Formats: sequence, C-alpha cells, structure tokens
Amino acid sequence: MTEKLNVLVTGGAGYIGSHAVLALLDSGHRPVVIDNLVTGFRWVIPDGVAFYEGDIEDQALFAKILADEAIDAVMHFAGSIVVPESVENPLKYYHNNTAKTRALIEAVVAGGVRHMIFSSTAATYGIPQSSPVREDMPTLPINPYGTSKLMTEFMLRDVAAAHDFNYCALRYFNVAGADPEGRSGQSTVGATHLIKIGVEAALGKRESVSVFGTDYATEDGTGVRDYIHVSDLAAAHVIALEALVADPETSHTLNCGYGHGYSVMQVLDAIDRVTNKKLVRKMEGRRAGDPDSLISDNSAIKARFGWQPRYDDLDKIVRHALAWERQLDERRGS
Ligand code: UDP
Repeated sequence: MTEKLNVLVTGGAGYIGSHAVLALLDSGHRPVVIDNLVTGFRWVIPDGVAFYEGDIEDQALFAKILADEAIDAVMHFAGSIVVPESVENPLKYYHNNTAKTRALIEAVVAGGVRHMIFSSTAATYGIPQSSPVREDMPTLPINPYGTSKLMTEFMLRDVAAAHDFNYCALRYFNVAGADPEGRSGQSTVGATHLIKIGVEAALGKRESVSVFGTDYATEDGTGVRDYIHVSDLAAAHVIALEALVADPETSHTLNCGYGHGYSVMQVLDAIDRVTNKKLVRKMEGRRAGDPDSLISDNSAIKARFGWQPRYDDLDKIVRHALAWERQLDERRGS
C-alpha cells in the first residue's frame, strides 16, 4: 500500500476533477480542492474535503495551500474545454489553459512539490493519420484547445528536465458517464458532448439530437469515438500518481481510452436501448474540425501502470450518465 498522499486537485468541483476527488478518497489519499467555481459546483465536493475558492493563477494563494496542506502532488484539471469556443476566442484558451498553467507550474516548483498529473487530450493529435493512435504519433492539433494543452505538455517536459519534478500527462479520449454510486456526474451547463446531450434529450430536456455528419469514412457514416467511463479515467489518475511517487525519475505521456469506438448512431442506439424510447435524430452537416474516427491505442498505460478498465461497456456508461442527469436538477437546487 502506498503512503497516504496529500493531493491538490485543481478544478476539483468540475466534471472529471470531482471524480478524481472520489477516486483519491476511495484509495485512501487526501484530496484538497481549489476551484474558481466558474464552471464547477461547490456542492459536488464531498463533506470533509478541504476546499479553496480561488484561481490557479493566484500564486500567493497557491503557495499558501501547498505549504498549509503539506501537498505531495498536484492533479491539474482546471481549464477551458469547449473546442468551438477556442476557435472563436483563442486567447481565452491560451490564458486559461497555457498561461495560468505556467503560473501554476512555477508555484509548484517553488513550493517543492515534485509530482503533477495533467489533463491532456486526444485533441493534441489533431486528425490522426491512422487509428488507433499511439502516443508517439505526430501531435498536430487543429484547434486552439488542443494547442493550448500541447503547449502545457511541452512546459512540463522542460520543467521535468530542469527540476526535481516528474509528471504524467494523460491524453483523454471521449470522457462520459458518471460515478456508479451517484456521488458525481457531468453537471456542466450548456454541455456540447454527445452522451450528455443524448441523455438530456432522453429526459425531455431537449427535443432532438443533431447528428453532425453522415458521410464520414466509417461503417455507418457517422463519427466514431472512443468513449471512456469517467470513473475508469479517475482511477488512472490515482495509479499515475502512485507511479510518479514510486519512480520520481520517470515522467509519462499516455493515452486514456478503451482502444475501441462507437459511432454517433451506435451511441444513440445505446441510449434508446437503455431508456426503451426512441430519440429524435436530426441529420445535419459535419461540425468543423471533427475527425472521422478517434480511437486510442491504450497499450502503453496498460503496460506501464497495469491500468484495467472496469466500466468498458457503453450501456453502463449511458445508464450512469442517465442516473446522474435524473438527479441533477434536484442537486442543483441544493
Ligand atoms: N456529435 C453529434 N451531435 C452532437 C454532439 C456531438 O453528432 O450533438 C458527434 C460529433 O460530431 C463527434 C461525436 O459526436 O463525432 C463526439 O462529439 P463530442 O462533442 O461528444 O466530443 P469530441 O469528440 O468533439 O471531443
């Protein structure tokens, strides 16, 4: 059993960050949350978890938390994540995701914290030349979101070479679902992601679901993605954390996905199956910048960390997302 670690979770009131908090608690570690609550929710942070409302850019606050809470490692989730918005407002992304992270890394190094886990993204690959995509394939992002995250990967690489510090950048594929015990889920207002939109529609919060593009080079013509359950992703963060501590000389950049994908139609079919209803599907044109298919090669994370998914089942992902969506309005009011 690894020692109990004090882990600062930035963005711990957000979708993936809040699941990481749960995974840390479930593994016997002590999460501490910093979140500016711009998109996150205070109520999702479990009772008893130390919480600081503030911005990751605030180096004085950051330094204080690192010292007061005796932080051993940082898991960095805070950031902006909407791809089309990044195209319209790139400087917001270079500020929130790149410049603020630079300030954070500076505070981490100055505070003597030696380990960091970073939320990177499959968007760093852009449109991959082949799929499944491996970590050593070219990173050619096609939007500022992907670029802003890739720039952070570069900073981490260079800082690890220069300082007593190691990191794990996890490149997420399509994260979906919710905590199986119903303790957290995707609460984002105005979400754009397919499964979230689909379950909202299934519960009557939307009239229909748009299918963006039916002429892709895939079996049924709709886009194929590698959907990973958020709790499997959160568990990968805890394993990565323990690996960084066990071997402080080594850093990692690893894909996080299941290694197989589903088309938009297959996802909507799963929602129909689970709800025993039929979603209204509206066929529309392609969304700008969407690749045909984006599937991870996950052999590296499995080989290095022994990571094994527990929820590699689309219907289960949908069931958990749906259960969360049902209780969301109630929670929001609390
Ligand atoms: N998609 C869709 N309708 C929607 C949202 C998404 O057809 O309302 C498609 C999208 O074009 C892509 C897949 O679903 O092929 C996953 O998109 P999402 O926005 O969930 O994640 P992304 O892959 O863009 O990160």
